[in-house]
Order: sequence, then structure tokens, then C-alpha cells
Amino acid sequence: MAHSFLETVQKHLQIAADVVQLPRHVADILAHPKNEIIVNFPVRMDDGSMRIFTGYRIQHNNIRGPYKGGIRYHQDVNLDDVKALAALMTWKCSLMDIPFGGAKGGVKVNPHLHSKDELMRITRRFTHALGSNIGPDYDIPAPDVGTNAQVMVWMMDTYMNRSDDLTKNAQRGIVTGKTINAGGSQGREQATGQGVAFCVREWARMKGIVLSGKRAIIQGFGNVGSYAAKFLDQLGVRVVAVGDHTGYLRNERGFDVAKLFNHARQFGSLAGFQEGDPISRDEFFQTKADIFIPAALENQITSKEAEWLEVQCVVEGANGPTSPDGDTVLTAKKIDVIPDILANAGGVTVSYFEWIQNKRSEFWDLEEVEQKLEKKMVKAYAKVMEYSKRKGISNRIAAYAIALENLKVAYEERGIFP
Ligand code: NAD
Repeated sequence: MAHSFLETVQKHLQIAADVVQLPRHVADILAHPKNEIIVNFPVRMDDGSMRIFTGYRIQHNNIRGPYKGGIRYHQDVNLDDVKALAALMTWKCSLMDIPFGGAKGGVKVNPHLHSKDELMRITRRFTHALGSNIGPDYDIPAPDVGTNAQVMVWMMDTYMNRSDDLTKNAQRGIVTGKTINAGGSQGREQATGQGVAFCVREWARMKGIVLSGKRAIIQGFGNVGSYAAKFLDQLGVRVVAVGDHTGYLRNERGFDVAKLFNHARQFGSLAGFQEGDPISRDEFFQTKADIFIPAALENQITSKEAEWLEVQCVVEGANGPTSPDGDTVLTAKKIDVIPDILANAGGVTVSYFEWIQNKRSEFWDLEEVEQKLEKKMVKAYAKVMEYSKRKGISNRIAAYAIALENLKVAYEERGIFP
């Protein structure tokens, strides 16, 4: 049966709520976002014409700390998907023991169809339209699909220009994932892909698998996919098939990952890369490998793709890449799933480090950031595996359950106002 992304997330919430015996009223609170903000705003195009854009910010929950979550620029952005993504952020921050809540936002726009100047004006007007609905101690955006460090710097600059001179510099933490120059953290750009690779490493270690020479396939070669490829390459894993919105490529000997990475950076996609055979999306999912990293969009692994997959492990770099039917097939085939809220939590973890550095006017070196990230990822990974084994439940429900246990305590201690 086909489920929307939001239904999928809500279904997982219900199952995990039963596992932790979450009080009914807390489950009800968490089934709905606290705030749903929709803004329509005009932007002048390069040719002088005016276009109206629709933007969203969903603030799911902030009992454990300020709302936190990415901003997506994509033509398919819609209210329900952003609600699902915002809820995932609440679970993710809780699972990682980061003092943030969950949020997500986006603009319905295909960024590939706009010039840099237009993207800047879209970003500035969107930030302006959000106004005081965001703030460095209230709701802190970050990059997601279709946005990057440059977009975050435009958001920061726009927000800072709303404040008076005396407090301007205290507003730097309004976004994370900024360029280093603008107050970003070392290691943030690669953090999500690096976190994915830490999960792969821990998976192999716990299973007694030698990673060197193993094969990986990666869907999505943007921020998460390309850095995951880089770190897997460093672990000796061969990346044998990749794909993005422009198509799929296979190279049985293993791609020269550095070359592939530079190509994607230079041209914005995999299109035109010569050292691989073009294959269809179906052939991509049928490529025999050991590890699959979905790093594109949600609902990519339905029962059909799951039937095709010939891998030992799926490490979810993307948010919500597996449908419930896909999950059922993966479980039946005994394919290990490292769920999104664990596997891609490296990004928000280093975003948290960036936020702390901004607050304290500090700059940590890369080594320090990487060590702290590794510690957090390894700890959370072990926790999820231990919990799922002890309770006899899937890794996904275990990850949700750990997140819900922390939220349950927060609601028990604080109660419901008034
Ligand atoms: P990105 O925009 O940098 O890259 C997205 C990639 O997906 C691109 O290679 C694009 O071509 C590809 N893609 C888009 N539509 C596709 C399609 N229909 N078929 C195949 N490929 C397609 O985005 P990103 O930041 O790398 O995010 C990827 C995923 O990881 C998303 O689910 C996002 O929510 C999640 N995520 C990102 C971060 C982060 O720090 N950026 C953190 C946690 C989770």
C-alpha cells in the first residue's frame, strides 16, 4: 500500500510510542507540528518581471531546545513533506542528545532554473518573510536539498540587517552550515557524509566485516552522497554505481571518487562524466554491491526497489528514503537498515557545534570537530543497536524509541502549561 511520507513518519511514531509506552497526550502532541508557517512573497527576476514564490517553515517541537532543521529548495516542496521532515528533526536531535527541537523549511522552486542573483533575491525575500519566526535562540535553519553554505550566508546577512548595530554580531548563529568566513564551523560541509561513513564503519566492525574492497552504490551525489563517497573511498570501499537527477552511471572497477567529486562540484551534477557506463535507474538498483547509500530524496526504496537490491546494508543518508513496504521487503531479505535519524545525524551534530562556537566566539579546528562528531555518532550507533537487539525490534523503531524516551522525560518533568 502506498503511504505518503508524512503517513510513514506518523506510523513509525505510533509503533515506537507503544514500545516506550508514551502517554497518549504526548503522542498526540508529537503527531502534530506546533507551528505551520506558509509565506507567499514576490521576487524580481533578472528580466525585470516579478514572480510569487511559496515558502514553508514547519516548527515541529521545541521542548528540548530551539527549533532546528534545514531549508530545501525543490520544485516538489509541499506542506506535508516538510511536516514529515520537521518531525524527523525532532527525533534526530533527541536521539543524538543535542539540545534542539525539530523544524524544516523550504521554497517551492527549482534552483537549477535560476541565476545566482535570482537565488539570492529569493533567499533574502524568504528570510524577510519569515521575519521573527526564526532566531538564533528560537529557530535555526541549515542547508538541505538545493541549498548550501552560500544560501545560508545570504539568510544570515538578511537576518543580521534586520537587527540594530549593537546586537548584529550576536545574530550570527541564526543559521548553521555557513561558510567558514561567515562564522561556519570546520567540518560542517562534509559532516553528514562523514557521519554516514562512521555508521558504515561501525556496522562493519560489529559484523566482523572487512570493508576494504567492498562495493557501494550511492543514489544522490550532492552534499551527502558525494562526501559519503569520499569517506567510503578512504575506508577502501569501491563505489561502483552512482546516480543523481540527471541519470545513473556504473563502473565495475570502482570510480575514481576524487575525479567524480570534482566533476559534480564543477558542473553541479554527474552529467557528462565519462568514466562510467550510463545505466537506467532500474539497473542501478539491481547492481550487486555490499552497501547502498540513498542520499537523494524520500520514498526511493519501495517494495520494487527493495526486491531488486542485492546488498547487505542500507545506510540512509537521505531522510525518509524507504517506504514502509520497502522496509518490509528489506527486513524479509535480512538486509540491515541504518535508519535516517541515526545515519544522517552528522549534519545536525556539527551544526550544533557551529552554534556553540558562534555563541562563544570560538573557532574549533577540524580535528576537534571530527573527534567530537565521531564520538557522538559511535555512541548513538551503539545505543540504537543495543536497544533494537534487547527489544527485538528494527533499528528504525529502536532509534525512534530512544528519541521518544528522551521526549517523554521532558514532558513528564515539565507537564503541560497551564
Ligand atoms: P543536495 O541538493 O546537495 O543533493 C541532492 C542530490 O539528490 C543531488 O545529487 C540531486 O541530483 C539528487 N537527486 C534529486 N532528485 C533526484 C531524483 N529524482 N533521483 C535521483 N537523484 C536525485 O542535497 P543534500 O544536502 O545532499 O541532501 C540529500 C538528502 O540528505 C536529503 O534527503 C536531505 O534531507 C538529507 N540530509 C541532508 C543533510 C545535509 O547536511 N545537507 C543532513 C541530513 C540529511
